[in-house]
Amino acid sequence: MDADTGRATAGRTTGEAPGGVSGGVSAGGEDHQRLLEEAMAAALALPARGRSADYIPALACADPGAFGMALATVDGGLYGVGEWRRPFSIQSVSKLFTLALALAEGGDSLWQRVGREPSGNPFNSLVQLESEQGIPRNPFINAGALVATDRLLELTGDAAGAVRDFLRAESGNPDITTDDSVAASEARHGHRNAALAHFIASYGNLRNPVDSVLAHYYAHCAISASCADLALVGRFLARHGLRADGSRLLTRSEAKRVNAVLLTCGTYDAAGDFAYRVGLPGKSGVGGGILTVIPGRGALCVWSPGLDRAGNSVLGVAALDALTTATGWSIF
Ligand code: GLN
Repeated sequence: MDADTGRATAGRTTGEAPGGVSGGVSAGGEDHQRLLEEAMAAALALPARGRSADYIPALACADPGAFGMALATVDGGLYGVGEWRRPFSIQSVSKLFTLALALAEGGDSLWQRVGREPSGNPFNSLVQLESEQGIPRNPFINAGALVATDRLLELTGDAAGAVRDFLRAESGNPDITTDDSVAASEARHGHRNAALAHFIASYGNLRNPVDSVLAHYYAHCAISASCADLALVGRFLARHGLRADGSRLLTRSEAKRVNAVLLTCGTYDAAGDFAYRVGLPGKSGVGGGILTVIPGRGALCVWSPGLDRAGNSVLGVAALDALTTATGWSIF
């Protein structure tokens, strides 16, 4: 369904990416638009829809069957189906940008404060933190993202602003912003995140006051952006660390490593199943978005708010599964 017209639509836009060249059917003859349409149809044919996240009240009313998907190619093509232009709450997809910016600004020392192993536990779990003495398992569970947010705050003075500005620059969309009502809703109901932050602080692993870290964490999670925006942004990882303007955010080796952590930890305790079904590095969020990287080719973002038990979008994973199975786009 198109956000503006309410009709089911598919759209192709070429040459829209900042600094990009026209896209279209690639040299290999793949028709990207048709592939997206087929992936959407395969997902929507499924009876399962999942449930919208209800622990953040502002997200609870989202329609679990809404769907959008966009592909941005490294050569500047941009393709989309369904509600691919409709902004949604990016939630934990923001953790990917927090990590990338913290590494870009501050280098490898972050890894002394956060690990890079899959947690095998839910994304908001408290249990490992005590046995591992305040060093979160990885930067994509909430505990680890709080440490990465703290690091980015230390480095920039405005972690949420740094993430927002990065998204604006890479997507070419100056309207990307935090939805303050979502951030406030999460802060009001954020006892678990507050507990995590205080617990980490008790081990000396936060440099800023707990309240500031939480405020920046909620603010970057509550950024609204569309599938088109996020697919455009995700190209920096498909381009091995190069930004849309050609400057370098991460070294090739750092980009490879971020992709590795995305693959092993980006979809929580379902990362193994995601690798099995989709075969691409990806980051999901409880708003229903999933951003995946196809190294050397582009970035794909899918959105549908109905979640499975791990917190990943049911239709989103199904559409990515259908697309990568049909195309062979996988890192394996
Ligand atoms: N802001 C959400 C939280 O802290 C993000 C969780 C997610 O998307 N998995 O719970």
